[in-house]
Amino acid sequence: MASRNPRVGFVSLGCPKALVDSERILTQLRAEGYEVAPSYEAADLVVVNTCGFIDDAVHESLDAIGEALAQNGRVIVTGCLGARPEKITARHPAVLKVTGPHAYEEVVGAVHEHLPPQHDPFMDLVPPQGIRLTPRHYAYLKISEGCNHRCRFCIIPSMCGDLASRPIDQVLNEAIRLRNAGVRELLVISQDTSAYGADLKYRAEQWGNREIPSRFVDLARELGELGPWVRLHYVYPYPHVDAVIPLMAEGRVLPYLDIPFQHGSPRILKLMRRPAHAVNTLERIRRWRSELPQLTIRSTFIVGFPGETEDDFRILLDWLEEAELDRVGCFRYSPVEGAAANALPDPVPDEIKEERWHRFMQAQQKISSRRLASRVGRHMRVLVDAIEDGVAIARSEADAPEIDGVVRVRGRGAGKLPVGEFADVLVTGASEYGLEAKLAS
Ligand code: SF4
Repeated sequence: MASRNPRVGFVSLGCPKALVDSERILTQLRAEGYEVAPSYEAADLVVVNTCGFIDDAVHESLDAIGEALAQNGRVIVTGCLGARPEKITARHPAVLKVTGPHAYEEVVGAVHEHLPPQHDPFMDLVPPQGIRLTPRHYAYLKISEGCNHRCRFCIIPSMCGDLASRPIDQVLNEAIRLRNAGVRELLVISQDTSAYGADLKYRAEQWGNREIPSRFVDLARELGELGPWVRLHYVYPYPHVDAVIPLMAEGRVLPYLDIPFQHGSPRILKLMRRPAHAVNTLERIRRWRSELPQLTIRSTFIVGFPGETEDDFRILLDWLEEAELDRVGCFRYSPVEGAAANALPDPVPDEIKEERWHRFMQAQQKISSRRLASRVGRHMRVLVDAIEDGVAIARSEADAPEIDGVVRVRGRGAGKLPVGEFADVLVTGASEYGLEAKLAS
């Protein structure tokens, strides 16, 4: 009688980038005949993919490792926190192995060592798109690792290294596999999507009978040829980004840009050492919008960075008012162990951070509501993510999964819409967080 396949439990913490790493590791393990266990008890061994971006994430990761050890006992750790193994082994000396981020081979090697595969690899047992943890109809497409910037609040470059882009043919092949497996939306991610290919000196790769440079705009254009929605995340407002706006106007790439601006005061941006800190972003946004009025911009900000004065904060609020961004997240600055910002003078007291955060959120909420309300009465295409109690939970071009709002489609036929397919709707109302709609007749 054949013994059962070895089972690996998987805990994936952190950002979408970490999720892509988890998916790649799972793809490989599945390819080798491992099964993915649904619980700690059912697993022969557990892999914890950690996050180490901010201190809260470090604690969450350490707790998750502790839980896996308590419930299963055999734990391999990978991910960003794995770049600082001493932090993990000091608290959890019983872990079997610690590997850093993107160390797919090492993780798989450690699994082999502690839980040998039962069978020879049956590559063809694996669906060609790999095992994804996201719903079937959207997928993250990671185009590079690491980052060449040195923002003072961030330790990613010290953990993940400098920018290392994947050659364009590899990225396009992965995108085609995903599309062929039913993916309707590709979410392009990296630490700095606009810098894609700089480390490769934009080397061209053979693609069919053409040569295509590994460059941001070329990648966006080629992805736009494939059919699924293409959504660009983590883009910086460099001049060369202007060239994707026509691709958006032509409908090849979603009219959506996720740009982590982080602040509006040039002095604070410089203190933060943000990429493109000298760029006149308001002017750039104005130009993009005049070319493409339907452009959605989402962003994140930090309030209370060391040295931020009331004046800087007011500049940020004025900037926000002018920029009229659609979706915004805001963090109160908190020191991250190992970040250069810790050495800066003039920390902002917690109660002022809190007060600024509330003022910021109030200001932005008004703007977001205004932007959403302006969509009422419009026809739009949405992608259905789920059906709940007869209501279709969908997203428009302006909504990235998990971070933006949703469009709730009600009324005749809504509950029967197929999940993972597009539908055309008419927007009937707006709330603070999302839209209400009915099927377009
Ligand atoms: S751009 Fe700045 S914040 Fe983003 S990963 Fe690079 S160093 Fe960190």
